[in-house]
Amino acid sequence: MTEAVLNGKLPPPVRRSDGVIIPFDKELIVKSLLKETQLVKTLYGGTPMKEEDARRIADEVEEDIRSMKLRFLSGPLIRELVSVKLLEHGFDKQRNVYTRVGMPLYDVYSIDNSEGYEAKENANLQPNPETFHKKKADFLSKESYLLMLPSNVADAHLRGDIHIHDLEYWGVRPFCQDWDLRYFFYYGLMPDGTGTHTSVAGPAKHAEVAMLHAAKVLGAAQTNFAGGQGFFNFTVFMAPYLMEMDDRKIHQLAQMFLYEMTQLYVARGGQPVFSSIQIESGVPKVWQEAPVVSHGKVWKDMRYGDLEGKVHAFANALLDEYMKGDAVGKMFNFPKPEVVQRTRYWNDKSFEDIMIKAAQLSAKFGSTYYDNMIPAYRGGEDGVSCFQCCAYAFAEDGRSESFRRKILFEDGAHFSMGGMQVVTLNMPRLAYKSGGDEARLPEVLRETMSVAKEAHLLKHRLMKHQFERGLVPFASQRPRGAPPAVDIDNLSHTIGFAGMNEMVEHMTGYQLHEDQSAQRLALKTLIEMDRVRKEYSTETGMKFSIARTPAESSAQRFAVADMIHYTKFARELVKGDLEAALPGYRESRDVPIYYTNGAHVNVAAQVPLYERLAIEQRFFPILKGGDIFHVWLGEVNPDPDALLKLNRRLANESWIGYWSHTKDITMCMSCGYVGGGLNARCPVCGSESLKHYSRITGYYQDVSSWNAAKRQELRDRYRVRISA
Ligand SMILES: [Zn+2]
Repeated sequence: MTEAVLNGKLPPPVRRSDGVIIPFDKELIVKSLLKETQLVKTLYGGTPMKEEDARRIADEVEEDIRSMKLRFLSGPLIRELVSVKLLEHGFDKQRNVYTRVGMPLYDVYSIDNSEGYEAKENANLQPNPETFHKKKADFLSKESYLLMLPSNVADAHLRGDIHIHDLEYWGVRPFCQDWDLRYFFYYGLMPDGTGTHTSVAGPAKHAEVAMLHAAKVLGAAQTNFAGGQGFFNFTVFMAPYLMEMDDRKIHQLAQMFLYEMTQLYVARGGQPVFSSIQIESGVPKVWQEAPVVSHGKVWKDMRYGDLEGKVHAFANALLDEYMKGDAVGKMFNFPKPEVVQRTRYWNDKSFEDIMIKAAQLSAKFGSTYYDNMIPAYRGGEDGVSCFQCCAYAFAEDGRSESFRRKILFEDGAHFSMGGMQVVTLNMPRLAYKSGGDEARLPEVLRETMSVAKEAHLLKHRLMKHQFERGLVPFASQRPRGAPPAVDIDNLSHTIGFAGMNEMVEHMTGYQLHEDQSAQRLALKTLIEMDRVRKEYSTETGMKFSIARTPAESSAQRFAVADMIHYTKFARELVKGDLEAALPGYRESRDVPIYYTNGAHVNVAAQVPLYERLAIEQRFFPILKGGDIFHVWLGEVNPDPDALLKLNRRLANESWIGYWSHTKDITMCMSCGYVGGGLNARCPVCGSESLKHYSRITGYYQDVSSWNAAKRQELRDRYRVRISA
């Protein structure tokens, strides 16, 4: 280092982050300020910097660098010095766009060594090189979007009024999608969406290829979407390929599909595709007369109704293969089997086998999900609807002209059901903010919902722009001039919520299961939310929906945020182990406290199943964007007959649109034992090397990858015994 540098007359050379070392040059600061602060205009509609201001800042920064006598200078360091100057001179917005995003080196080191500095947001992520990369990318991405969002929206998220889901994908990915398989069976498959980067496959002509295409559609789609990928009406659309197949072959194909979906270990960091398939036992009324679409053709002389035998056989085969599990006897946790409930399937004896197998699968692994079309609000027989991802619901109204065209696949018209974005409201905070005054609650609710709406409008604009420029290529693909695979204007903007139980507890003094006044207030609040939702839809022409969100991490995040900002109230209400959370909740983000999700009854409440059912079912008709009823099974070996009986009752006599039975599972890593319950030792070989599996929120995963709040919830769950 030269004498001039050492005595501060010259700044030291600059190590730039793009990999070069150059002499310090003040002009580069001026240039970059003028160029980069243009973003202020794009992002916030503000004014970029004037040249004289940029010069003044650069002069002062140079002056500081000289007087500090630094021996080391880097691009990032200069940038932060400039940022401080910008703040000193009141250029806050300019600082927002000029600053760097990134993370402390210590955190990078911790991630690479899997020391999990961050709350576990997604239990599907396993420590592996792809995940380490994703975690770093996520961090950078989230930090950037928080700077780019309007400050009121970003602050609402940071304070914990709302939770913007999958923030790391905010500017580039829509949320989730349930695909119409006919599209790919007619147009073929381009995994890249353009046909230029990968091979282009014509429409499947053989059953194996159709099955593989289906798996690859979801794999390719996952690279464009933040959330779950699924197929509605899966067994029906697959049936044309099974016409020549015997039962043994159909089983083989079903098994192959399940392995494909759990072994395409390539999605969003190293994890399987978050997938679901809707399993119809027969052909629903709306599809009975619809022409078959397969092998690249629309068959004018063949209706799906003609293929009911194959649909039935395929549903059987899938459930048989789910029941077998993988080579070590473990469950297939994906694709989530969504077994459709219809009056016909319960009344017509010939479908009894599917209903029985679905219950047996629940008893063995807990993996069945029940998609109930029977309640009137589902519009099941005359419409098309599905549950997917973590229990989001999508529906298409059967009365429109476009619906008819989609059923007929006229000029490639097809269904595109999915979600654009989810923003969740922290319900207990509404109660604190309204000062416990019921008359003020709707106003506070509206205020918070309007921030969620603002986020949704922004997301819609952003995605529209990305779609138009072909930057979500799998979703916007148009093979051979087809209509785009995904109709972006048809995606749902979901306003979710967590902690209704704690909100009413603060307002009325009772939890949902303790008093009718609490239930009435929850219902009243949901009706109000739905009213506001309708206003938003009318006003914007966009689809808005209300749903219980999975809240895998937000149920914990809201509880922690309220412990920080509303300590006095929150400490009375948060569920879980507050004592254990107290020492660390301000610093560590992974503590065992949470709010009850959606409008669910406290998981620890010791109320009989039918009482909980009576409370929660009333919310389903309002929550058209999705909800789930959880049955936490208490038996190590639940009785399939008892579950069948319960299913019959839930399907035919309740308003529950979607439910699952959760069985806790222990798997021994020493001897391979798989059985019910959460054992500390293997009942066969005594080993303590065990894996526990359970349903975290809307899917099954290894408990050791759950966050602390969800692990606490697992301990707190009041499990019921089901007897025939
Ligand atoms: Zn063992």
